[in-house]
Amino acid sequence: MILSKKDIPSFLDKLISEYQVFAPVQEGSYTLFKQISSGADAVLTDSNTKLPAKEIFFPQSEKLFSYNVTEEGTKLEATIDDQKKVVFGVRPCDAKSLTLLDNVFNNDKYQDPYYLTRRTNTIMVGVGCNAPASTCFCTSVNGGPFDTKGLDLLLVDTGDAYVVEVVSDKGKALAEQAGFAAASDADKTAASKAKEEAKVTCQVNTDGLKDKLDVNFYDPIWDKIHEKCLGCGACTYLCPTCHCFDIVDDAVDCNGCRVRNWDSCAFPLFTLHGSGHNPRTSNKERYRNRIMHKFKYFVDNFGEIACVGCGRCIKNCPVNMDIRVVLEDVRGSEARLDS
Ligand code: SF4
Ligand code: SF4
Repeated sequence: MILSKKDIPSFLDKLISEYQVFAPVQEGSYTLFKQISSGADAVLTDSNTKLPAKEIFFPQSEKLFSYNVTEEGTKLEATIDDQKKVVFGVRPCDAKSLTLLDNVFNNDKYQDPYYLTRRTNTIMVGVGCNAPASTCFCTSVNGGPFDTKGLDLLLVDTGDAYVVEVVSDKGKALAEQAGFAAASDADKTAASKAKEEAKVTCQVNTDGLKDKLDVNFYDPIWDKIHEKCLGCGACTYLCPTCHCFDIVDDAVDCNGCRVRNWDSCAFPLFTLHGSGHNPRTSNKERYRNRIMHKFKYFVDNFGEIACVGCGRCIKNCPVNMDIRVVLEDVRGSEARLDS
């Protein structure tokens, strides 16, 4: 099937009448995913959005329920967002990041209704990456510029049009509803060529990384690695796979609501106990945790690396911390399990 670029606004306008549609939009100097009210607002640039699509499913701040305590008892009211959604223009790395977050919000011990309802009711329309950025390393972490994990449809840019590839039943139904024209042999050849020519030039060697992290908790390398880091948390807030949150009650007298807010392991208060003790006293412990969480603990818990190689943390760190260099340093570190 084929979707001409000039037909994208009208395609999205039709979807808007039935779904909440999210797409990359320009905001000042950068792009991010927002709900659009007109198909003309969608902006598909060559590169990934500055902010990932994560917030559509796991908002930065979300009311979980409101409560009211009276003499008769306590009344709870929860609002679950069950609107049908389409996310258009998501890159393969960001789509894959949601399959990683699924492990956190849907496992044997806990199923999060807020996240899961959104995931179930959303159709993911991805766009492959013909020209991956120099900071992209998706192929080093089990992904790729045309990877279909987490997608329902994949669009492949062939110049004036996108060849539409069906990935799931949800995607098939949407494509049938849209009535895309059939792709010609020339279109299919152009799509294959685009895929062959898309090169991820940056490779990160993860061989033996997990084995090293299993044994180097006390290696002196951690004293050096974190030195530049300011602990600003930008890398965690921009990361499509970071998912730490805090829960607070916002109440006046007997009325209030419980709110979930993003948090960050880069912040000193993240692990501060009520007693005043903090097990991660310095930036060294906090930065080590960020790396350990993504490349060891998540692998221990779910069998996958919690990084999709999107490169946002590299592009946006104010002091140029580069996770690719950090991982190489870690691979070269010693085995030190005693302090
Ligand atoms: S963005 Fe850079 S300085 Fe800020 S917490 Fe992350 S690594 Fe540290
Ligand atoms: S750690 Fe960095 S490269 Fe990996 S997914 Fe997060 S922001 Fe992207």
